[in-house]
Amino acid sequence: MPVYGAIEAGGTKFNCLVGSGPDQILAEIRIPTTSPAETFGQVLQFFGEQAKTNPLAAVGVGSFGPVDLYPGSPTYGTITSTVKPGWQMTDFVGPLKAALRVPVAFDTDVNAAAYGEHKWGAARGLTQFIYMTVGTGIGVGEMCAGKLVHGLVHPEGGHMLIPHDRQQDPFPGVCHFHGDCFEGLASGPAMQARWGIPAEKLPASSPAWALEARYLALAIINQIYMLSPQRIILGGGVMEQALLFPLIQEEAQQLLNGYVRSPQITDRIEEYIVPPALGSRAGVLGALALAMDAAGPRE
Ligand code: ADP
Ligand code: ZN
Repeated sequence: MPVYGAIEAGGTKFNCLVGSGPDQILAEIRIPTTSPAETFGQVLQFFGEQAKTNPLAAVGVGSFGPVDLYPGSPTYGTITSTVKPGWQMTDFVGPLKAALRVPVAFDTDVNAAAYGEHKWGAARGLTQFIYMTVGTGIGVGEMCAGKLVHGLVHPEGGHMLIPHDRQQDPFPGVCHFHGDCFEGLASGPAMQARWGIPAEKLPASSPAWALEARYLALAIINQIYMLSPQRIILGGGVMEQALLFPLIQEEAQQLLNGYVRSPQITDRIEEYIVPPALGSRAGVLGALALAMDAAGPRE
């Protein structure tokens, strides 16, 4: 059975694995995201070691970004305008290809997670859906008509603008580029800055959750209007708070106000706005799925 490599590259850690499916993982490692040289050094060491016993057919990458996904661009395969110090214009695909000499698939972290959910998780059989992560940042991966969406660059749904009532919530937002965009208002760091303690320490009784659910629901209904997704998958650290799901589902129904007529929304919203079936492994397993495609059809 062919074996593939997968990398979920995040701002704090790289999750890497070698295997051929969710139930066939041969090795797995977490590498801290320090400098590109140090982190890639460890990544290449891991895959180099693994390849001695299990030659890799391809490697898939889901990366934090923004990234250049445009084939033919001189900077294809690089992390571009990230705020992560030391990582601006870092070539990702080049060093991997040079060292491992196999096809490398490259996409955003959220597109990879969407793909993992499509292949093995909560979006099996769907052709149009979104995967949104609410963590250190907010990112949105999209599948449209059966394909992961790229485009001019790639969608940046985390930075959409949503109504911000400064009377009710005077918090100015934390986005380095836009202040009170969606990510600026609703990411984990935004919650921490607004309420003075990390989101995971806020009690269930805190007004933080209703406000968070409102921002998430506002962003979600915009995406429902734009894409008509068949399902919305919400992952990331902040969504570990299971209490958010019913709050978001109810708020979304109220905001939509019966306009988008589908039983998915009116009768079964708990099956429509859902957590990832693969949990926190959606991204790295999606990178594995991308690698399997990059290797081409099996003989
Ligand atoms: P990353 O975005 O770096 O991949 P996460 O998705 O875990 O990592 O997001 C980290 C953010 O999520 C932090 O801001 C943290 O405060 C928040 N977070 C982590 N765990 C929880 C939790 N159980 N409940 C609420 N917020 C959480
Ligand atoms: Zn922004």
